[in-house]
Amino acid sequence: MTETLEFQAEARQLLQLMVHSIYSNKDIFLRELISNASDALDKRRLVALAEDGASPDDLHIEIEADSEARTLTVRDNGIGMSRDEVVSLIGTIAKSGTAEMLRRLKESKESAELIGQFGVGFYSTFMVADKVTLITRKAGDDAGTRWESAGEGTYTIEEVTDAPQGTAVTVHLRPKDEEDALYDYADETKIRQIVKKYSDFISFPIRLGDETLNSMKALWARPRSEVKDEEYTEFYRHISHDWTDPLETIQMRAEGTFEYEALLFIPSRAPHDLFQRDGRRGIQLYVKRVFIMDDSRELMPDYLRFVKGVVDAADLSLNISREILQQDRHIQLIRRRLAKKVLSTIKDLMTKDADKYATFWREFGRAVKEGLLGEADDQKAILDISSFASTAGDEPTTLAAYVERMKDGQDEIYFMTGETRAQVENSPHLEAFKAKGYEVLLLTDPVDEIWVDAVPDYDGKKLQSIARGSVDLDSEPASEEKTGEFAPLLTWLGETLTDEVKEVRLSTRLTTSPACLVSDSDDITPTLEKMYRAMGQ
Ligand code: ADP
Ligand code: MG
Repeated sequence: MTETLEFQAEARQLLQLMVHSIYSNKDIFLRELISNASDALDKRRLVALAEDGASPDDLHIEIEADSEARTLTVRDNGIGMSRDEVVSLIGTIAKSGTAEMLRRLKESKESAELIGQFGVGFYSTFMVADKVTLITRKAGDDAGTRWESAGEGTYTIEEVTDAPQGTAVTVHLRPKDEEDALYDYADETKIRQIVKKYSDFISFPIRLGDETLNSMKALWARPRSEVKDEEYTEFYRHISHDWTDPLETIQMRAEGTFEYEALLFIPSRAPHDLFQRDGRRGIQLYVKRVFIMDDSRELMPDYLRFVKGVVDAADLSLNISREILQQDRHIQLIRRRLAKKVLSTIKDLMTKDADKYATFWREFGRAVKEGLLGEADDQKAILDISSFASTAGDEPTTLAAYVERMKDGQDEIYFMTGETRAQVENSPHLEAFKAKGYEVLLLTDPVDEIWVDAVPDYDGKKLQSIARGSVDLDSEPASEEKTGEFAPLLTWLGETLTDEVKEVRLSTRLTTSPACLVSDSDDITPTLEKMYRAMGQ
């Protein structure tokens, strides 16, 4: 029985974009199919390892081209999908943030940019196809599933009995454009080229007839001098599902009692789910070249969750579970070393490539600052690579540069927190500091409210909020005579505002504003107070 089902609304919109092909580079549809096949083979191997302690033989990817029929098939003997999985994985887009992305896409001209962040994967086949057929059978299931669609609003789905284990995707290529020989995806030379370019590192053989097209060499195991930048980029795209170039590539190797190799990437922009609890994390764990798990949160501190890459450890069991990982002392050591290396790489960027550093900080600074709430060891390294808006200019400043500009006799680093730069800049608290020529850091990220309390000082200089307590700016205390003169007003204000304020004081700190609100030094800052209130506390 053949059923006709509708694509979920968001999936339909995304397909529309594919059919009208917003990418100039259509070659990548093949990379996406191979990438999915490779993931499916990884999964099948993991299941087999857990069940029988051995990897199945002959895991591979096969490409078949028929230039007469104008079809291209990518077949794997991986994990396969059940009928329900086909419906939920192929018929809908489960990823969070899709709706938001589509909305932004409509409003913006840089659609390719935006959508790249998202990785359309399987749907990219519709850039070159007028019909796509997928036949799959899940490991252990008797029956298979046939899925077919022309990329319009619907797809068909039916049970098939003779499907081999794994998945085969057949792309029915659009009629040949005689003008453009470049786009002949049924041509074997073209296929060889694309595989070599985008998928060489895939760890399973990709076969075309008898020929294996890829070298299967693990990129992280090859000396950096031998690997082309493009190869790193393609690998990054495979593991990150991001289509942009990485900002920075980091390779590491540790020898001795606990050996591992790592290949890490700092993306060039923040993923849409950076601040979502269930967002995808970046590190894959391998053991001796065998993929073990995605999303290993144990290998990178949370504040560096945007770092993508692979860690290949030589001495772990292939059956290692997440529970064991969490407790493993070696894994904790690796995490420390990886974090250190990432931070030192950023520090190098600050001097070597200021533009890259600025991009890094703009995209990830908010997440990195969460690390200031952690161990003291990290605090110093994180403060060293942090930048903050300041009254000294339009560009963010480092703390080291701030300290260098400090006035004679100034021994504290002044900051003010708030919701926006404009709000902070218009605050009466700033007046006296501005008037006296003191630089003040303007901290407007929500996390700033919290870390400033966790960090005692930088370089021996205390961090001091200008909105708290009486910051001593060598200003004269209000004279007794003046206080007497204003006593009736102060009393009246104090009584009138009795529910709102603790005390009304005469002050000399303001120059143009008539009054300002100040917290006691051990009170929480106004913005934090607001935040807590918003959270209902
Ligand atoms: P992504 O790979 O980023 O998850 P895709 O659109 O490429 O997104 O694929 C969607 C999902 O469909 C995959 O996550 C996977 O679960 C499933 N899938 C796609 N191709 C295969 C395949 N060859 N074998 C098994 N499952 C697949
Ligand atoms: Mg994919």
